[in-house]
Amino acid sequence: MDQTSPFALDIPSPAYICPFDQACSYLDAAAKELKLGQGVSEILSHPRKVVTVSIPVKRDNGEIQVLAGHRVQHSDILGPYKGGIRFHPAVTLREVSALAMLMTWKCALLGIPYGGAKGGIAINPKNYSISELERISRRYISELIKDIGPSVDIPAPDMGTSAREMAWMMDTYSVNMGHAVPGVVTGKPLSIGGSLGREMATGRGVMIIVREALADRGKSLAGTRIAIQGFGNVGAAAAELLHQAGAKIIAVSTGAGGVFAENGLDILELQAYARENNRKISGFPQAKPITNTELLTLPCDVLIPAALENQITQENVNQIQANLIVEAANGPVTLEANQALEARGVTVLPDILSNAGGVVVSYLEWVQGLSYLFWDEQRVNGEMESLMVQAYRKVMHQSQTRKISPRLAAYVLGVGRVAQALNDRGLYP
Ligand code: GLU
Repeated sequence: MDQTSPFALDIPSPAYICPFDQACSYLDAAAKELKLGQGVSEILSHPRKVVTVSIPVKRDNGEIQVLAGHRVQHSDILGPYKGGIRFHPAVTLREVSALAMLMTWKCALLGIPYGGAKGGIAINPKNYSISELERISRRYISELIKDIGPSVDIPAPDMGTSAREMAWMMDTYSVNMGHAVPGVVTGKPLSIGGSLGREMATGRGVMIIVREALADRGKSLAGTRIAIQGFGNVGAAAAELLHQAGAKIIAVSTGAGGVFAENGLDILELQAYARENNRKISGFPQAKPITNTELLTLPCDVLIPAALENQITQENVNQIQANLIVEAANGPVTLEANQALEARGVTVLPDILSNAGGVVVSYLEWVQGLSYLFWDEQRVNGEMESLMVQAYRKVMHQSQTRKISPRLAAYVLGVGRVAQALNDRGLYP
């Protein structure tokens, strides 16, 4: 099998930072802190099921391309597997496995009755037409039809996917079942059982965590200087809500570069500019261009990495100037960089807490669908806020009483809850 095949094992270069190894290191640290037995850690460091399917897709020019689609189901000890589906060129089985494990801890930490999963296809959606993306989404779900379901595994949007893909996936599953099954995915359009508040949920959750962390330091959002890496679904929503609350968003960026304004950007105008310019933000008037690398090292009060993993590494960690980092992306800070930041007294609020707003509202969407009763946006946002604030307080309490970092505290809570359930359920046979 040649290396360009989607099924070729990714042979890491020496510089490769394996996301699954990193996820296991955090699990090991939490297991040590919790004094978990060897068997429990051993079980939790393996995904329960790993599925890779072949997706033959007819391109618009008539050619057939075969893609690899992954779904990793890490744990269903607390409930159905839950997690997004990512369409991004950097998707690998290792990455999807790491992200599936993070979903397990995230759901457990937030106290929602789900396990963890993640899916992905290594494509750049920008290189495919809408009808090609529809064929890819439908064939992917059809290949996984026996592995998903409203009480088995419930996909949702992630990088490169949105309500549009969820509608195609819900329809494909439903047609195969012979009746509408809205509960098979979350993050759906409102017309087929989506929830008000879902689209902005991850960004809103990030805003809530930043607000709470500042309040603990006797500060408020008003006037706080914030830099945000990423202006996609999460970064743009967080920027908008933080800006509305009076924070100064001094810089934001996309993969193609970013913009900086010493006195703060007008986020609503920036969003309008991005809409008119095919999602591009460079060239925005009254702002200076800035690279992604420069953005991370700007002097600011709060840094929000809201793009890909492994952005703050040993290479740039010494240049980071923010005292508070709120991880809106999954895994944006590497293990070594995290240790260096902690040693310097920088607070890093981890992904499994900070970006949990999305899966919390996914849960609320699923509950509304199962009960055939839909709530207004205020209720959805209120329920989410209450779960986020509770989780934040629990993490800070654990961090203070155990004298450990907020990241380890979040893992202790998430891993601890799953380990407890594993012990109570026992091992079959
Ligand atoms: N993809 C999002 C995450 O990483 C949402 C997952 C979901 O709603 O199931 O948390």
